[in-house]
Amino acid sequence: MRRKLAAGNWKMNGTAADLAELNVLATLMPADAPEVIICPPAPLLYRASTVAQATPISIGAQDCHMQASGAFTGDISAAMIADTGAAYVIVGHSERREAHAERDRDIRKKAKAAWASNLAAIICIGETLEDREADNTLDIIAGQLAGSLPTAVTAANTIIAYEPIWAIGTGKVPTLDQIAEVHDFIRSKLAIRYGADIADMIPLLYGGSVKPDNAALIFEAGNVDGALVGGASLKATDFAPIISALAQS
Ligand code: PEP
Repeated sequence: MRRKLAAGNWKMNGTAADLAELNVLATLMPADAPEVIICPPAPLLYRASTVAQATPISIGAQDCHMQASGAFTGDISAAMIADTGAAYVIVGHSERREAHAERDRDIRKKAKAAWASNLAAIICIGETLEDREADNTLDIIAGQLAGSLPTAVTAANTIIAYEPIWAIGTGKVPTLDQIAEVHDFIRSKLAIRYGADIADMIPLLYGGSVKPDNAALIFEAGNVDGALVGGASLKATDFAPIISALAQS
């Protein structure tokens, strides 16, 4: 059985006081909840990991540097993230690809850096609206998969998040058919590259305007094993119903 996951990306939101949301979330989560990961801003990672210890929630970072250490002012390494108690790191989020000019090969190196510190990588891919309208979505996805994924991908070290850029933070959501088409395509590409056994076990998350009122429908789409959630992960009262919908899917 492939595992289900709900990951929350807090982006540049939250201070220590907001970590109380983790305890609230733990009380609202169903007993049969899938794996839940919260990715707070880097300064909160250590405290978040400490708070999460008393809950079933895991902690992840939003990015890591591709190098193990060195003169990279402002960056953080995968080892530093692991040292906080976090177990995951998002790499290749479209906001990093766009605002920090990260390329597929950078993402690939970051994923390898994550693994070297025993972090699982949540690797994000997704097309722009322009790509979608030009009917280039699957070509873009194929290119990002080929470029961003290292050769040693396993179901234990990698989670893939399909996040159409035009759906992130916009309230626009692809149709179920559009989500299923891309997720089926990703699974088939993974099978060609890594073999069916590994491909079948890699969790594929959908991300982009997942909310309490659309989550159940999104989780009906084929090959969707969970969600990467931005805005609706900030408040436990919004995230908990999404987790419940995933548990029931
Ligand atoms: C995201 O940033 O990964 C995301 C999916 O954001 P939102 O849920 O707010 O669209």
